[in-house]
Amino acid sequence: MSDIIHVLPDSVANQIAAGEVVQRPASALKELLENAIDAGASDIKVIVKQGGKALIQVIDNGCGMSETDARLSFERHATSKIKTTNDLFCILTMGFRGEALASIAAVAQVEMKSKRVEDELGTCITVEGSKVKNQQPCGCQNGTSVSVKNLFYNVPARRNFLKSNSVETRHILEEFQRIAIINPGIACSLFHNDKLVFQLPASNQKTRIVNIMGSNYSERLVSIEEETEMIKIKGFIGKPQYARKTRGEQYFFTNSRYMKHPYFHHAVENAFEELIPDNAFPTYFINLEVDPKTIDVNIHPTKTEINFQHQQVIYAIIKSAVKKAIGSHSLTPSIDFDVEQAIPFTHPDKNKIISQPVVRVDPDYNPFDNPNVAGNRIYPGSKGNREQWEKLYDMGDRKPTTPNDPGLVVDHPQPGQTEIDPEWSQVQHLLKNDNFILFHNRYVITNIKSGLLIVDIQRAHERILYEKYLEMINNKKGSSQQLLFPQTVEFSPNDTEILLEIINEVRASGFEINEFGKYTFIIDGAPEGIHEQDMSEFLESVIENYKKNINDLTQDKKINFARSLAKNSAIKKETRLSEEEMNNIIDELFACQAPEVSPDGKRTHIILNFGDIEAQFKN
Ligand code: ADP
Ligand code: MG
Repeated sequence: MSDIIHVLPDSVANQIAAGEVVQRPASALKELLENAIDAGASDIKVIVKQGGKALIQVIDNGCGMSETDARLSFERHATSKIKTTNDLFCILTMGFRGEALASIAAVAQVEMKSKRVEDELGTCITVEGSKVKNQQPCGCQNGTSVSVKNLFYNVPARRNFLKSNSVETRHILEEFQRIAIINPGIACSLFHNDKLVFQLPASNQKTRIVNIMGSNYSERLVSIEEETEMIKIKGFIGKPQYARKTRGEQYFFTNSRYMKHPYFHHAVENAFEELIPDNAFPTYFINLEVDPKTIDVNIHPTKTEINFQHQQVIYAIIKSAVKKAIGSHSLTPSIDFDVEQAIPFTHPDKNKIISQPVVRVDPDYNPFDNPNVAGNRIYPGSKGNREQWEKLYDMGDRKPTTPNDPGLVVDHPQPGQTEIDPEWSQVQHLLKNDNFILFHNRYVITNIKSGLLIVDIQRAHERILYEKYLEMINNKKGSSQQLLFPQTVEFSPNDTEILLEIINEVRASGFEINEFGKYTFIIDGAPEGIHEQDMSEFLESVIENYKKNINDLTQDKKINFARSLAKNSAIKKETRLSEEEMNNIIDELFACQAPEVSPDGKRTHIILNFGDIEAQFKN
């Protein structure tokens, strides 16, 4: 038998390596951006089309490459950043493995133009699937431009594996932000589908964060700074009082490289403990400057984890630095010298009274008014009096069903989370009396013939609102309520993108909202029942929820938006409800299509039946 081992051709080897380096358009962008930074660029422009599937182009004004270097840069293990193994222990550049360009060029059509200042002409090279198609001198600007077209064009399995354009765009924007935040001295811009999404001038650290996250961040941040022999900590944290309503923007960097570090994250959370509610996330942008010899960076090309030699000590230092920052902010008045004057501020109206959202259940609202939609459902009517309740529960054969009514999309409960109470269908008769107990401002407990019905108010309300909003969005007939004063709200570029993507759904739900400048919108009306004082914070949270759902739950815009809206406008825990409000909630809950579960699949109520209770008293 002849020998069977052979060395793989470069193109195959590169494609295999590409699997590690390039998982999606955002990973290619990351590599190109890092190269631009390593090249000393002071201005970087990013052009993306169709979530990066069609095009990712990065144009920098860095050092550029000679003709030979330009050609060599596509070879595997070709790098200008390290020479010896010793160099590996003091890496300060973003790249060094010399794999990125070779890997990207193995799975895409790449065109590079590059020119050094000292050269008269630049070089233009086209590489497709690791094959150099063309190389020639060309006139071009100083610096380098790399276009990556049709990523995975030659690896259909991977191309098909990519998510929708909007999901890939999300990843792209996130990657761009991670790099832009920590390189404030470099001017960065990003165009997506010919639309300018970010334009960030070179600035100081705080201004950069504010330019990315939105102008309302300028009052939310306090600086954090600590210097010891082992580590230098610098950055900004969000003031505790903003942790609840804003999203948790959490960014750690090490030597200006984005990283994830659950252990250090815990240190920050720990420092915030008791200052923010359990379910809130602190915001932070923290750079740790350490001797490169004491960390292990590139365990894996795409991994963002970094190993530190003195983890525990650093943990303690971070925690105390955060505590110190929180403490100093609560003592010093909030005059802000950190922000450059050029930033447009939006001053919140200080005279506004901030109040708890009020529950107003529309007594006339009946999603099943339409007989086609109502099907054979039992709806107790709008008044919620005892008679109607009894009618509801008198239907002895009512089983919790997952309805399949047309026009109403209902989420299916997630397995495991939501077994439906077997006693449910046995509830035959309702109230002996109309008494409701509000327990811990969180549950409504009421007497039903077979036992006790305990309803989780927030989840129940979420279910009610979700079905209501979804109906409105589907039928484009959300009833709108004029705001007393129109509100001008500004969003981050990232959130603006999302808002524009779902603007039809937003309007259908009852928002009267119009673009007013690049990242600014005017809101004249809001869906009935939404009594937020501050639409900007409200919508910001809704969008934040929407973003979470894109990745976790659903791709359907309507469902996602209805869900996010419901989540944010539902009554929060710790709200005192009147008897009537409690009654209405229960009423409306059981008029829902899927009253058993909240929109995210958690049970809305339990029934303790008489037998259960009796059993507890056995001994
Ligand atoms: P690495 O960054 O790990 O060295 P890459 O494959 O990303 O590997 O790049 C290979 C080499 O090509 C780099 O070391 C650098 O010399 C050169 N190069 C890549 N991109 C640029 C750029 N935008 N400007 C100047 N040189 C670049
Ligand atoms: Mg590189």
